[in-house]
Amino acid sequence: MTELTLAPDDLALPFAIEGKQARGRIVRLGATAQRVIDGHGYRGDAARLAGEALTIVSLLGSALKFEGTLTLQTRGEGRARMVVADFATPGQVRSFVSVEENAEPDAPLLGDGSFALTIDPAEGQNRYQGIVELHGSLSEAALLYFQQSEQIPTKLKIAVGQVQSDGAPSWRAGGILLQRVAGEGGLQPAEANDDDWVRFGALLDTVGADELLDPTLAGEDLLYRLFNEDGVRVFEPQPIRFQCRCSAERVANVLDAYSVEELEDLKLPDGRIEAKCEFCGTVYPYERGA
Ligand SMILES: [Zn+2]
Repeated sequence: MTELTLAPDDLALPFAIEGKQARGRIVRLGATAQRVIDGHGYRGDAARLAGEALTIVSLLGSALKFEGTLTLQTRGEGRARMVVADFATPGQVRSFVSVEENAEPDAPLLGDGSFALTIDPAEGQNRYQGIVELHGSLSEAALLYFQQSEQIPTKLKIAVGQVQSDGAPSWRAGGILLQRVAGEGGLQPAEANDDDWVRFGALLDTVGADELLDPTLAGEDLLYRLFNEDGVRVFEPQPIRFQCRCSAERVANVLDAYSVEELEDLKLPDGRIEAKCEFCGTVYPYERGA
């Protein structure tokens, strides 16, 4: 029996294609994706949306140059009413999605709606929010965000799926983000060599979901496979893991703002009030003035 060697996992790996004004990050999520998806008991579409959202916030959040959080939130008219994921520096992620089980079977998954990215610096700077229209997938909305809000030419490839390991299938997610950057001497992305950029896009199109999800294929090796002729340089990986940031105190802060009438609606038959964290399922008992 051959032992498969597992590649470094649950990380974001920044890279640059030297001299070609392109840089990006590759994200691999193994135990982290499984923990979030399985923890919620998500299957099918809900599992895939949660994995995709986790990958997007990991790709974007790992680029933050300051302490803070990055949040993705959608609202739509499709079966998936809401998708939320966030990334807190240096590498904590979580997600929850709300998919209607009883919707019309041919209703679109996300439908028309909005896709918001919010960046909340821990201190100092102002909160920033960019909102774009949601039409297709989360990846398409993320690309639209880059086009409209940041005006950076961007390419994105994401995969979510189940991979057999130790006899049991487990969820994995992965993605590559590639961006045009201003070169030395202040050369603008638009002035950069388009042939290279078009070719990089074509190379990225060749990446299969199996490669993005393969637990034995290191991110570095996948990047080398794609861009070795152009001189790809890989930087220090950033670990990513599931970690909820909820607490009894935060829950109390929210519920303290509720009116007596609103609290009345939350009461259980025995008069107690409980609040459940949507991200991790922890239930917090609450008492006014406690
Ligand atoms: Zn929580």
